[in-house]
Amino acid sequence: MQPHIAAAPQNRLSIDTPDLQLRVIPRDSHTISRRDISPNALRVLYRLRDGGFSGYLVGGAVRDLLVGGHPKDFDIATDATPDQVRALFRNCRLIGRRFRLAHVVFGREIIEVATFRANVDDGSGDRELHEGGRLLRDNVYGTIEDDAVRRDFTANALYYTVEDFSVRDYVGGYDDVQARVLKLIGDPEYRYREDPVRMLRAARLAAKLDFRIDEASAEPLTRLAPLLAQSAPARLFEECLKLFLSGHAVASFERLEHHGLLAALFPETATALTANRSGALRNMLLEGLAGTDKRVANDEPVSPAFLFAVLLWPAYCRALMALQAQGMHAAEAQRRAADRVTLHQASMIALPRRFSLPMQEIWLLQARFSQRKRVPRLLAHPRFRAAYDFLLLRLVASSEHAEDVDFWRELQAQSGETEDGLDAVESVEGEGDGEPRKRRRRRRPSPSATTSE
Ligand code: ATP
Ligand code: MG
Repeated sequence: MQPHIAAAPQNRLSIDTPDLQLRVIPRDSHTISRRDISPNALRVLYRLRDGGFSGYLVGGAVRDLLVGGHPKDFDIATDATPDQVRALFRNCRLIGRRFRLAHVVFGREIIEVATFRANVDDGSGDRELHEGGRLLRDNVYGTIEDDAVRRDFTANALYYTVEDFSVRDYVGGYDDVQARVLKLIGDPEYRYREDPVRMLRAARLAAKLDFRIDEASAEPLTRLAPLLAQSAPARLFEECLKLFLSGHAVASFERLEHHGLLAALFPETATALTANRSGALRNMLLEGLAGTDKRVANDEPVSPAFLFAVLLWPAYCRALMALQAQGMHAAEAQRRAADRVTLHQASMIALPRRFSLPMQEIWLLQARFSQRKRVPRLLAHPRFRAAYDFLLLRLVASSEHAEDVDFWRELQAQSGETEDGLDAVESVEGEGDGEPRKRRRRRRPSPSATTSE
């Protein structure tokens, strides 16, 4: 049972709808070429048309194509119901409970086909708003105009059709894309309250596209940032991956910080960064994000565990210092600090254990680098490489790790020269450190860099 369902506040969007002005940008006036559209998406568009339905490429794909980008997915909106879409395509499955979507599957490519959706209170009770104005359900079919105004930014509400290869614009998105500005459709505060994740999308899309955020859309961000705490932690985790693992992590971080969203998303990290006067922790964090961006640019895999180890490291350091100041033994303080930070952050962002555990290992292995004890075991640790890469990052914050880096770099170089890499290590360490042989494993090329951890 929903405890507090208030009557929908006055819906400014539905009031705006009748005033929408359709602008058609003909083929010879825009830059979208069929060559840049996925052939499978085109197939779906033609099949819908031949079936007597209207179908449009919509959302991020149209926006990205207009700025010369290469969309990673092609979404389609149509007036056909999900069942009608399924009847047209054998390779189609319907998904979603809250809102039914059709996925048309072509090998590894999935084209998402959504029926035009409305975002209006028609009295049917199919649209419910929480007291704070947060949108709980919006499963009502609608017209293309309804579908346009329920989208977030004007740049995301452009429709491309294969009828005449024109772009249809109901909300002024075409001019906004040309001006490289992100503008919320409707009243910004109302739209952020409906779905606070839109605040993160503003920061992320501005970073990715190098757009500015329109003044009226930017103004409420810092003020409304605390509303993010009401969004589902699993959704915030997904959004974090998009923010930081899509090749624009540094720009995203700076936008989040600028608009007060970082403090809402990672409160303990934000506090620790403010307290760290030298700026060393911030430099290290940005260096880590820049490294992630470089890996993405080079098509190298990136790991959420390493990313979160970077993002939460300032919080971990601060927690560790506090516990040690209370006189707690170092090893115990490290474990407690790692657990505490992970637990506190989890109430905001649902970081799955398959990522939080290796993240903690990366932190806990740091102390062992300076101890230089049980060397073979450390070298064979599945998280060794990730932890060592992390040590390199820490060098940015403090030169005191230079000797440790040299020591472990040297060891790796030696171990890499032998058949079983660890024989060389053993010769450095000497016999009889009590490591059972069966525990040794050859170091994989780069375990730090797998998304499948
Ligand atoms: P990306 O480049 O990350 O894929 P995108 O804009 O395509 O960016 P998606 O999450 O793929 O983002 O969403 C597709 C479209 O759905 C958006 O362009 C927008 O029109 C609409 N949309 C997505 N999220 C929201 C939201 N929270 N509120 C309103 N509309 C949304
Ligand atoms: Mg998209």
